[in-house]
Amino acid sequence: MSRTSSPRTLADWQALAAELAFESRAFIDDTFVDADSGDTFESRNPATGELLAQVASCDEPDAERAVAAARHAFAGGAWSRLAPGKRKKTLLRLAELMEAHKHELALLDTLDMGKPITSSLGDMAGAIGCIRYQAECIDKLYGEVAPTGEDSLALVLREPIGVVAAIVPWNFPLMMTAWKIAPALAAGNSVILKPSEKSPLSALRLAQLANEAGLPKGVFQVLPGFGHTVGKALALSMQVDCLAFTGSTAVGKQLMQYAGQSNLKRVYLECGGKSPNLVFADCKDLDQVASHAAAAIFHNQGEVCIAGSRLLVENSIRDDFVERVLKAAETMQPGDPLDPASFMGAIVDEAQHRRILDYIRQGVEEGARLRSGGQAIDGPGLFIPPTVFDGVTPQMTIGREEIFGPVLAVFGFDSEDEAIAMANDTPYGLAAGLWSQDIDRIMRVTRRLQSGQVFVNNWAGGDQTMPFGGVKQSGNGRDKSHHSLEEYSELKSVWINLAT
Ligand code: NAD
Repeated sequence: MSRTSSPRTLADWQALAAELAFESRAFIDDTFVDADSGDTFESRNPATGELLAQVASCDEPDAERAVAAARHAFAGGAWSRLAPGKRKKTLLRLAELMEAHKHELALLDTLDMGKPITSSLGDMAGAIGCIRYQAECIDKLYGEVAPTGEDSLALVLREPIGVVAAIVPWNFPLMMTAWKIAPALAAGNSVILKPSEKSPLSALRLAQLANEAGLPKGVFQVLPGFGHTVGKALALSMQVDCLAFTGSTAVGKQLMQYAGQSNLKRVYLECGGKSPNLVFADCKDLDQVASHAAAAIFHNQGEVCIAGSRLLVENSIRDDFVERVLKAAETMQPGDPLDPASFMGAIVDEAQHRRILDYIRQGVEEGARLRSGGQAIDGPGLFIPPTVFDGVTPQMTIGREEIFGPVLAVFGFDSEDEAIAMANDTPYGLAAGLWSQDIDRIMRVTRRLQSGQVFVNNWAGGDQTMPFGGVKQSGNGRDKSHHSLEEYSELKSVWINLAT
């Protein structure tokens, strides 16, 4: 099977995987290099335990080198002062290259972190679409002329910020990367990407493609390594102007502190969630809603920031609805991530696997009713089946904390006010879903939900035109759409006196 043909079956994907080569070195100043210390960390396939690569483990000296190269590139202007239409062309070339290599890129994410190959292919469409969208936006974004008198001309110019460090998680490795780097690069910044230590491989392949697309030296660099080493060094650097972060709320809080301890760099955060999915008794097709409610939590093994992890069901239909959810969940069992028929794949690593099982144990101990799943599946790989708890209360740990695994907590409610109060009773505010046929109720409830996005009669709907982000402790940034592009530029006010 050649890299450019279209794999369709498990055997096709296995054949493609067998011939994959992994780039495992850092990409600094246009060159692939080992970490300064020579240290490496293991990248393992969580579905099999197989060692994929020993990856360069970057630290402070590597961060310093990359930051110096990024600053040099920014000051040189080969990218930062290039006409936006020319930046667009280079980024569109990158998107073309990613399209040509999308099977290989998808495979890297699946092997590295265990997600099903169909899901990785969906991520590639999202990643490539984001790069195209932001590239197309950049030469259509105008500055402003302020409304002043005739004795002056007042301009509001948009300029790139400088050096942006993008620190991303492992659950959608390349897609989360694209959501950050596409607007940051389009706006003219130099970007240093730190992928998660749990999923560095697609980012390093992306560096090769970006190089081939013609991004100038030092404009895009990739530093694999751990958060507390190279991530922290970037976040504390006096020469990094902006942190673009997706990850947990706990680390997001640390990054704000690092910014305060260093140069007050901008910090954009996309953090965790415990998203409520509200089902009212007036829904039309309960089987269909139940199937969406199950997919909302079991997609990507529940390792999704906007997972619909809290299912709030009107008590008059609750028992019946939970039965339908259980039936849908049965069809969503984990399997070989390389098999296009698998709905769920493997859990990313042993630590996450253990953490999910600990939460399940706590759910049982605190009195929630375990209705399905709950046990790890035997085997060399790290698999957990769809797990459903009914009778969950807001006081229970599994009803409050982000588990980041295939565990659904079902709550009951009797009134609209009770449902809204329960939905908002969380430090998070990333996503919320609402299922009803009553347009008055839909608008009433939508307005009162404290959430960055609300999905009405769907879960996770959206495209490149829609901003994505949270409120409360789910973060302060917005990915996608022209709003994200605006985040990566500074406004410069220019007042010109004119003789009249
Ligand atoms: P994490 O916070 O542990 O790590 C995220 C990134 O931060 C990784 O690259 C990690 O190496 C780095 N990091 C860790 N400690 C650091 C430090 N001290 N300094 C600098 N960098 C550091 O999160 P994770 O486990 O990779 O991802 C899961 C989390 O991400 C969940 O909470 C999930 O909800 C969230 N997430 C949010 C969104 C969103 O758009 N809101 C999307 C995907 C994932």
